[in-house]
Amino acid sequence: MDIVTKKKFKGGYKFNNFEGAAKPVLRELPVSEKIVIPFSEILLDSFVLAVGEGDTVHAGDKIVKSNNGSKVSFVSPVNGTVSEITSDRIVIASDGSSTFEPFNDHIRKPQHLDRSEAFDIFCETGCSFLCGNQFASVSDCDKVKYIIINAVHNSPLNQSWMPDIIGDSTIFSDGLNTLDALFPEAEKIIAINNRNRKYFDDPKITEHARIHILSDKYPQEHPELLSKSTVGKRLISTDGDFDESILIMQFSDVFQISEVMTQGRPLIDRILMIAGPGVSDPGWYRVRIGTTIEEIKKQLLTSDENTPLRIIKGNPLLGEVIQSLDTSIVPTDSEISVIREQAIRELFGFVRPGFAADSYSNFTVANFIPLFFKKLETNLHGGVRPCVQCNYCDEVCPVDIYPFLIWKYMKANEIEQSFRFRPYNCVECGLCDYVCPSKIDILQSVKNAKEEYRKSRRADELSD
Ligand code: SF4
Ligand code: SF4
Repeated sequence: MDIVTKKKFKGGYKFNNFEGAAKPVLRELPVSEKIVIPFSEILLDSFVLAVGEGDTVHAGDKIVKSNNGSKVSFVSPVNGTVSEITSDRIVIASDGSSTFEPFNDHIRKPQHLDRSEAFDIFCETGCSFLCGNQFASVSDCDKVKYIIINAVHNSPLNQSWMPDIIGDSTIFSDGLNTLDALFPEAEKIIAINNRNRKYFDDPKITEHARIHILSDKYPQEHPELLSKSTVGKRLISTDGDFDESILIMQFSDVFQISEVMTQGRPLIDRILMIAGPGVSDPGWYRVRIGTTIEEIKKQLLTSDENTPLRIIKGNPLLGEVIQSLDTSIVPTDSEISVIREQAIRELFGFVRPGFAADSYSNFTVANFIPLFFKKLETNLHGGVRPCVQCNYCDEVCPVDIYPFLIWKYMKANEIEQSFRFRPYNCVECGLCDYVCPSKIDILQSVKNAKEEYRKSRRADELSD
């Protein structure tokens, strides 16, 4: 199949040389004593528990099963005892061992399984949770016409990812074989950075998938932008509806599916980036599903009472801030970022050239001398100031929507005027806020305008 190079990308931002960026190593986090599975993450309309309080479980045993006739199951991530079941979660006290029960039917390669056998294993071993559990039966897989595998890494802390830290291309190509077995109708596309081209330029991979080399600018890896640049289609319509013919997966998802099929290793863990200035050893980790942030904090975060940490699921610009240390790792997680809460205000930190500040003009010593790392924290650098019409937000916006004008109209309460600048195209990448020297909360205004637009469309539909 083809290798397509599409490096041109309007807008976006190239991050480099940040303190706490992930190193290209994969380690295993020791198994946690307490595992928490929130039922909100089970993503099934109807399910039953396969265990009760006090039961002994092994890693890979089914603990929750679908109740709608499919074989979808959530498996225990650890060996231990079910210590608590409430209306919203199940807690397992682990015995600390790292062994697991291999899945029975793993001996054959995926290409030698028939489609329904492959689908059953996919569901019973927990792999369907990697795709948000959207397929109740094998025929549902036929809705998917494109599978886009995301191997692009451009966010501030995630620049050094290399596919070979996770494993060799034979394991990855077995994952692609599985996808071929499950989704025979779908075209597979792998989106990559040029720096990793060698790994993917391999007949074992290219016989299954088209390779797209994308730009090194953030947020090229955003699902909506990936979809546009690889298959030329919108993932989410202007009204907010998902296109079900497109499935976006992470590189590690395909790898873990392969481990299930060829090694019988059920979906008991996630391969996650854990990085940022608050992490003692930033890099990639295998973490058991259900491990709490409290446990990650104990094992990996630096503790300094004077500098509280902000822990984010996802990248620092668009991830979700974790409010409770009892929050746990779920199958769809792929990054944890930990940055400093910086309360002391520093005037014009972003625009001013300096050793450790990032700057839109890139006139920062850290850009030229790698001995200095740029800081990543939550400082507003002097607080919100009036717009200086520098146009930076327009220049970085990857969807070309004039965030500054949308902000201006929303501030003046001229909501309908803001629709002229297409707020519905915003992918919420956070770059406009990041580069704004006045630290105006532009993104929130654009999000509000997008929501208002969609509300008005729904109201129009109802009145028709
Ligand atoms: S307006 Fe939206 S898409 Fe554009 S830079 Fe801001 S957050 Fe990103
Ligand atoms: S980046 Fe900030 S200061 Fe510059 S034009 Fe946009 S809103 Fe105004």
